[in-house]
Amino acid sequence: MSQRQIPDRTEALDLLLNGDLLELGGWADSIRQRLHPKKRVTFVIDRNVNYTNICESRCTFCAFYRDQDAPDAYLLDHETILSKISELVERGGTQLLMQGGLNPKVGLEYIECLFRLIKERFPLIQNHSLSPAEVCHLADSAGLSITETIIRLKRAGLDSIPGGGAEILVDEVRQLISPNKIGWEKWGEVMLEASAQGMPTTSTMMFGSKETAKQIIEHLFRIRELQAKGGSFTAFIPWTYQPGNTSLGGETATGLEYLKVLSLSRIILDNIPNIQASWVTQGAKLAQVALYFGANDIGGTMLEENVVAAAGCSFRMSQEEILELIQGAGFNAAQRSTTYKILKEF
Ligand code: SF4
Repeated sequence: MSQRQIPDRTEALDLLLNGDLLELGGWADSIRQRLHPKKRVTFVIDRNVNYTNICESRCTFCAFYRDQDAPDAYLLDHETILSKISELVERGGTQLLMQGGLNPKVGLEYIECLFRLIKERFPLIQNHSLSPAEVCHLADSAGLSITETIIRLKRAGLDSIPGGGAEILVDEVRQLISPNKIGWEKWGEVMLEASAQGMPTTSTMMFGSKETAKQIIEHLFRIRELQAKGGSFTAFIPWTYQPGNTSLGGETATGLEYLKVLSLSRIILDNIPNIQASWVTQGAKLAQVALYFGANDIGGTMLEENVVAAAGCSFRMSQEEILELIQGAGFNAAQRSTTYKILKEF
């Protein structure tokens, strides 16, 4: 079967606004089948550790952050974090995803010391941590460049960088929902620098808040272009804004909009190998459907997750339920590493 050309920005916008959902899904599914031919759907055993909820960025879409003097503000001590990782290892986990707020009391040395301890005690755990905004926060607090900061973090034990904090990579949207956070070019700069230093990265998109359809398309093309410029994105993870307990409030995207955006992600980002379905925001049933709309990966089992849960979205799944989700949708389940190496087939 000949491959269809990827649409340009104008065509992609027309597809998002007027395209037929099932036709887009079929197109995305044909790309998934070409890139992942064995009907295999992967997952990783991981834990999110949110080391602090204190954050000076105060993004309006975020239900997780607290001001420093809030009664439930916290900064976890190193021993607490290490015991959480120990639990992850006991349950066969391979990936630690550590992210937190932009806490003025957390500097580069705190993180370096923590990452060294983690590497010493858990050398086999992939430390997949810190968003580009956190990397910039650490760089600013230490008075260092992004390059020097990533060199130091890598030396301390950071293995790869997740693509959190991308939201929509268009500054007009960022001004509306996260005016104190880094702009889209800085986000891209951190990711390209991580890639230049040999680190794998991932990319994300949070949609359904204040952006337009055109800005969603712009985001997808900017991710595609960053990858083409030397990015190391192993995966793209689109997920929907969760309005619960946020100051932004409002509505979010429907399941149908999610599937359309997911399909277009698979179609436009054919230079990124993996597309993740977001069971955390969509629930298990829609995540199953997503596997027919371009997704080939179900993300992490997430022994712990606090950020989306703070917005009142609390889908939880055990490893057995993840297997049921994948197999029940008619696919072969496989456990993977952070870098998509197959560790075990079921
Ligand atoms: S999204 Fe991140 S940077 Fe923004 S307020 Fe929440 S924790 Fe802070």
